[in-house]
Amino acid sequence: MALIVQKYGGSSVATLDLISGVVKRAIATKNQGNRVVVVLSAMKGETDRLLSLARQVTLNPDPRELDSILTTGEQISCALFAITAQTLGEKVKSFLGHQAGIHTDDIHTKARIVNIDPSRLITELAKDRIAVVAGFQGVDRLGDVTTLGRGGSDTTAVALAIALKADICEIYTDVDGIYTTDPNICARARKMEKISYEEMLELSSLGAKVMEIRSVELGMNYGLKIHVRHAHSPSQGTIICQEDPSMEKTPVRGVTHSMNEARITLIKVRDQPGVAARILSVVSKADIVVDMIIQNKSVNGEGQFTNFSFTVPSSDYARTKELLEGVLSDLQAERVIGDDNIAKISIVGTGMRNHAGVAAKMFQALALEGININMISTSEIKISCIIEKKYAELAVRVLHEAFELHKAPGD
Ligand code: ADP
Ligand code: ASP
Ligand code: MG
Repeated sequence: MALIVQKYGGSSVATLDLISGVVKRAIATKNQGNRVVVVLSAMKGETDRLLSLARQVTLNPDPRELDSILTTGEQISCALFAITAQTLGEKVKSFLGHQAGIHTDDIHTKARIVNIDPSRLITELAKDRIAVVAGFQGVDRLGDVTTLGRGGSDTTAVALAIALKADICEIYTDVDGIYTTDPNICARARKMEKISYEEMLELSSLGAKVMEIRSVELGMNYGLKIHVRHAHSPSQGTIICQEDPSMEKTPVRGVTHSMNEARITLIKVRDQPGVAARILSVVSKADIVVDMIIQNKSVNGEGQFTNFSFTVPSSDYARTKELLEGVLSDLQAERVIGDDNIAKISIVGTGMRNHAGVAAKMFQALALEGININMISTSEIKISCIIEKKYAELAVRVLHEAFELHKAPGD
């Protein structure tokens, strides 16, 4: 008897009909002799609706109260799932994050899971029940409800699968697996049978929202097998697993983009020790995550002036500018400028480690379309470029074509 954790995303539970479909799928899985834990997202659009309600009151709602509002989305879908299953004669019980033993830190709206006590779920499974757990939420030490950040139901599912020592975690969504790029943007995108944790981690962190990044990180740390597949189709999806040698044959395995970026530049800062640290500590103290960073040596040598640029999530753009404007004289900088009309476009592949010329090919493909590159950053297995936002989708298609990702390796 296997233990399976199934997570259904917002689009898969968007209507009562769709909920009924996924209820039947979970029951069928149980009837095949498995124990089943279901993790649900809020119905599609619900989290955005709740967020906008709060933001109509104030643009800066108190994070603790916001979490109270946001957790209701998953509460509703879980109870609807349970009621639907009960009408079909199935034994099922729904659980909120705190009832399922999901304990987090107290960073409201981006809490991290600190531990899971799965005993209550184990008791329910032993009674031959399906346990339905609200994704995206937990409880802190004080007993206040928290949320895990957007897309956090993936993390709930993976973390629960690990805590329950599940055999597999199935992530059900509105596409039938992980593609070489977002299939809703590029018609030539190809579904992959397998992808390594490392590649999926890069794709997620660079904008492919199909899997939330922390869920991939957790899965990788514990070697949990994750199967991403379509909620309303029986077809096999994509397995996220350890890298196997065949994955290295092609240098580039995926293209992704992110529209949620903004660039900040400090004009005329001193090129001397400690300046970069001072700039970034102002930002990090505000819990703002910095991504790309560029500083060139000043042309006139140490002690002279240079510019310092970095990117932050666009949701933190205004606050970052404001924070730096407040410390301009401290930093002896001339001014802060910024741009949130940008996108990050990235190519990813573990095979990049031992293939030459990948960057040149990427830059050339963009140049042929007249797409200018503003910033570049690389790691062992990815290259990212900041470009003007309006070119993002075109760039995805151009790079997908340039690296012939529509062809399966060996074609
Ligand atoms: P869910 O509501 O099930 O959590 P999401 O909207 O979070 O689903 O993620 C699924 C979406 O991810 C797809 O509809 C697709 O547009 C997008 N996506 C981005 N990159 C990829 C990719 N490489 N492969 C598959 N889907 C991708
Ligand atoms: N409902 C939350 C969101 O929309 C969590 C999730 O769907 O994973 O971000
Ligand atoms: Mg999602």
